[in-house]
Amino acid sequence: MLSFRHITGAAIILFLLSVVLVVFVDAPTYIMTLPWLFWLVFTAIGSFDIRWNYHLQAVHRSSKQDSKRVAVTFDDGPNPKITPKILDVLKKHNATATFFCVGQQMKKHPQLLKRMHDEQHTIGNHTFSHSNAMGFFGKRRMLSELQQTNNIAKEILGVTLRWFRPAFGVTNPAIKSAVSETELHVVGWSIRSFDTLPISEASLTQRITKRIRGGDIILLHDSSEKTVAVLERLLLFLHDKRMEAVSIDVLLKNQV
Ligand SMILES: [Zn+2]
Repeated sequence: MLSFRHITGAAIILFLLSVVLVVFVDAPTYIMTLPWLFWLVFTAIGSFDIRWNYHLQAVHRSSKQDSKRVAVTFDDGPNPKITPKILDVLKKHNATATFFCVGQQMKKHPQLLKRMHDEQHTIGNHTFSHSNAMGFFGKRRMLSELQQTNNIAKEILGVTLRWFRPAFGVTNPAIKSAVSETELHVVGWSIRSFDTLPISEASLTQRITKRIRGGDIILLHDSSEKTVAVLERLLLFLHDKRMEAVSIDVLLKNQV
């Protein structure tokens, strides 16, 4: 497993080896920088791709691959323009989903949050601010992001949030440390739709459906207008394949 701990350990050993080569066999001094270049490349990729489990262990799919169930997840809401349409489509198809909500959006739109909860969807924590600078937050600030969002859900819904998805899927040692002080479990995804990019609805749907398997966790955003149409197409596809869209609570039951 390529974890931050292992890669850092390997870089230190290679660096010490390079120092020995430079001192005792007159090797060129630039070789001492190579282990750190190697460390930097792995750490950059591992921090931006949550599926590497580089800094922390996240769940990316159900272990039951033979299942006919998948979890459709929406990040960045609640959004007053898009979320009601998403909820309408889910209701029409009798499907349940998971909404990884931003704390400050939850505070602004408590009625939408209540509607999600009343319609049996699972609510997850997606930080309080979703700041672009979150990758540089220290542990205390990150912990405050998690706790504020948990507290808002508790105040509005009376529920304790169980799942957390990092903003942008970015992880680092501060996020790992902050999460470890909560009861939250980290959830990634096995299929990323890229529904916030300028790609047609048909291409987005195909991108998801061509690789879908039972147990998948699909990443969508209830901040993107075209996601409403993508969801409609996806739910029709699932119906045709006799598959079912369920919440993360149901998909990962007894697995975490
Ligand atoms: Zn997000």
